[in-house]
Amino acid sequence: MRFSRLKLNGFKSFVDPTDLIIGAGRTGVVGPNGCGKSNLLEALRWVMGENRPTAMRGGGMEDVIFAGASSRGARNFAEVTIHIDNADRLAPAGFNDSDHIEIVRRITRDVGSAYQVNGKDVRARDVQMLFADASTGSHSPALVRQGQISELINAKPKSRRRILEEAAGISGLYQRRHEAELK
Ligand code: ATP
Ligand code: MG
Repeated sequence: MRFSRLKLNGFKSFVDPTDLIIGAGRTGVVGPNGCGKSNLLEALRWVMGENRPTAMRGGGMEDVIFAGASSRGARNFAEVTIHIDNADRLAPAGFNDSDHIEIVRRITRDVGSAYQVNGKDVRARDVQMLFADASTGSHSPALVRQGQISELINAKPKSRRRILEEAAGISGLYQRRHEAELK
């Protein structure tokens, strides 16, 4: 599984539809301060089901919607689409019947978030589970926020263990056990 494309529309500073092709191998994003580099990483986290406003540097989930600028009015929704190349067929069961997975998350003011996988409505939980074992989820240590390294150094042993568990790929098992216990 690998990300092959990221599309944003009304997400944070990306008010106009933006379409980024993500090639194989390493991708670098460069630009002046405030141009939106961190917002791109947050868009990735968000479309994978991130629900903590703090992880989005906001006070509420609707803060990801373009808030307006001197020359443009605020938007009413934000949408992020991620394409996943699943040619290696490593997606978890339930998502593994095609070479291509398209995930869309849209948030509308006063309505909330809605998710689709390959055009079908799904729950946030389904999208989170899709990534839970792939070491790519919204909490994944593969996504390192600005300032996170110093936080890691100062973390309490328990939270450091959680990060290591995620890196080892076993946090998906915990989530599945938790789901099973709820049923
Ligand atoms: P740095 O190099 O300083 O880390 P960066 O390229 O990572 O900068 P970001 O933090 O991604 O920049 O982008 C910050 C910009 O996004 C700011 O100009 C901020 O006003 C804008 N921004 C954030 N949220 C919104 C929003 N909801 N609506 C409009 N603009 C927003
Ligand atoms: Mg930044």
